[in-house]
Amino acid sequence: MKASQFFIATLKEAPADAEVISHQLMMRAGMIKRLSAGIYNYMPMGLRVIRKVEAIIREEMVRSGAVELLMPLVQPAELWQESGRFQAYGPELLRLKDRHDRDFVVQPTSEEVITDIARQELRSYRQLPKNFFHIQTKFRDERRPRFGVMRGREFTMKDAYSFDRDKDGAAKSYDIMFAAYKRIFDRFGLQYRAVAADTGAIGGDLSHEFQVIADTGEDAIVYCPTSDYAANVELAEGIALGTRAAPGEAMVKTPTPGKSTCADVAALLGLPLQRTVKSLVLATDQLNEAGDVIKTTVWLLLVRGDHDLNEVKTGKVEGLKQGWRFATASEIEDHFGCKPGYLGPVSTKKPVKVIADRTVAAMSDFICGANQADFHITGVNWGRDLPEPDLVADIRNVVAGDPSPDGKGVLAIQRGIEVGHVFYLGTKYSKSMNANYLDENGKPQPMEMGCYGIGVTRILGAAIEQNHDERGIVWPAAIAPFAVVVCPIGYDRSAEVRAAADQLHETLGAAGIDVMLDDRGERPGAMFADWELIGAPLRVVISDRGLKAGTVEVQGRREAQASTVALAEAAALVK
Ligand code: ATP
Ligand code: MG
Ligand code: MG
Ligand code: MG
Repeated sequence: MKASQFFIATLKEAPADAEVISHQLMMRAGMIKRLSAGIYNYMPMGLRVIRKVEAIIREEMVRSGAVELLMPLVQPAELWQESGRFQAYGPELLRLKDRHDRDFVVQPTSEEVITDIARQELRSYRQLPKNFFHIQTKFRDERRPRFGVMRGREFTMKDAYSFDRDKDGAAKSYDIMFAAYKRIFDRFGLQYRAVAADTGAIGGDLSHEFQVIADTGEDAIVYCPTSDYAANVELAEGIALGTRAAPGEAMVKTPTPGKSTCADVAALLGLPLQRTVKSLVLATDQLNEAGDVIKTTVWLLLVRGDHDLNEVKTGKVEGLKQGWRFATASEIEDHFGCKPGYLGPVSTKKPVKVIADRTVAAMSDFICGANQADFHITGVNWGRDLPEPDLVADIRNVVAGDPSPDGKGVLAIQRGIEVGHVFYLGTKYSKSMNANYLDENGKPQPMEMGCYGIGVTRILGAAIEQNHDERGIVWPAAIAPFAVVVCPIGYDRSAEVRAAADQLHETLGAAGIDVMLDDRGERPGAMFADWELIGAPLRVVISDRGLKAGTVEVQGRREAQASTVALAEAAALVK
C-alpha cells in the first residue's frame, strides 16, 4: 500500500467534544469521522483496524465450532412482540414504520430473529448443539452517546447464540465461548479481566463480562489479586458487602414476594426516572444526644431487574432500630424472586455526594420514617450514572482491603471497559417464542440458549485507552492498521532512496506483510509525527545517508531509539 493512493487525514487538534484520549486520538488520526451524535463514518484507516478485529473474532468463533450467518438490520416488530421486548425495551430501541404502517426495529441484538430461525430449522435433538454468530451493525439509542466509538449509537457487534438440549449442554456451550473469548482477547494483546456479572432476571451464575482494564472505563471491577475472584462492582457490592451483615444491625424486611420495576422505585422516591436504576447508595449518620455524628453508615440498596419495593414503601419497613434487619441472601431471593437483591450496611469514611435536598428528604422519609430522629440520610447516589469517581471512591473505601468472597485474599478495585459479554439465557426466548426441538422420545422440549457479544468497534477505543503515549496511538501489533511503515526521506528527490524503498515495500508486500510506503514526499518530522499518531507498530527509515553505509533505521513504536540494520537484513527483521 502506498500512502499517496491511500487516505491519510490527520489533525493537529481533537474536537472539543472528545473527552477521552481514545476518542481524541481516533479523531486526530483520521480513523473515524462524526456524522451525528454517536454515529460515525469509519474512515479507511479506522476500517482497517475494524477488519483486523473482526478477522480475529471470526477465526476464533469458527475454531470454536460456531457458524456464521447474517441477520437483517431491520427486523419486523412482530417477533419483538412475541418475546415481549417490543414493549419492554424502552427508548434505546429504535422503532420505525414502513410505508404500509407496519412496525419495525433496528436491531440492538438479534435474539428474536435467531430464535425464529432456530424454531424453524432446528427440529430434532440430533441437530443440537448449534451456535450461530454474525458480525453486524447494531443501533441503540443510547441516552448519552459519548467517548467516540466506545459508546456509539450505531456500532458493530459480534453476537453469537447457542442452542442446546438441556442446561448441561448450555453450560458446555457457555464454557466453549468463554474459552474462545479468552483466546480472542489474548490475541488482541489487551490487558483484560473476565468478571462475574449480573444475570438479572435470568438468575444463575453464568454471566461474565470481559473488561479491558482502563482508568476511563465506565465500569468498576472488584478483584482479588491473589485469587481468580473478579466481579463487576454491581454484582460485587452484593457479595462483598453482604458479608458484613450483622444480626440486628441492618435493615430490610419485605414480607411478601412480588414484582415491581425501577420506574416504581423512582415513583416511590418522587424522582423522575432519567436512567436505569441499578443501585441506590444511601448514607446515614447516627447522632448522639448532643447531635454529634458518631457513625456514618452507607446503606446500599441495590435494585436490579423486577424486584418488588412496594412492600418497602407501604410501611412494612419498620424503621432502622426496631424491625429492620439485614436480609440474608436466601431471604432476598425468596422475597424479591431474584438474586442477589441487596440491602445492607457498610461503613464509609466520607459521605456520598448529596444530589438534591428533595431527593435526600424523600429518601430519609422512606428509610427512616418520621420518628427516627437519630438517623438522617446524608446522601443518595443513583447507581453508576452518577459522578462516578465519587461512587467508586466510596466503594473503594468500603471494599478495597476487605476479605474476599472466596476466602483467598483481600479485594482491590479497578476500572474497566466492557468489551465482551457471555450470558446464559436459559429458555427465556425459546419459551416465549415456542422454539422447541423433539427429544429422543419425540417429545417437544424448549431449547436452552446462550448469547455472546463482543463490541467490535468498542475494542478500538478500549485498545487505545490502554495503549497510547503523548505522541499518539500505540496499536497492539495484531490489530494495527499497518504492521510496518516504510518512511523514505527524499522519496521525491533521491533515485537511490526511491529504489530501496520501493524494493522493501515490494518484498514485504510479497511476504504478506501489511506494509505501508509513505511516498508522499513529506518532511521527516511531519511524516514521523503522522505515523506515531496513527500508531504503526514499526517504522523503517530509508535515507541517502544510511544507504551510503548500506543501512536503514528500524524503530518499534514503543522504542525510544532506532536501531541501525543492514538494508539487506531489514526485510527479514521485519518479517
Ligand atoms: P454497556 O453496559 O456498556 O451499555 P451492554 O451491557 O449494554 O454494554 P451488551 O448488551 O452486553 O452491552 O452487548 C455486548 C457488547 O456490545 C458489550 O459488551 C459492548 O462491548 C458492546 N456495546 C454495547 N453497547 C455499545 C455501544 N453503545 N457502543 C459500542 N459498543 C457497545
Ligand atoms: Mg448498554
Ligand atoms: Mg453492561
Ligand atoms: Mg453487557
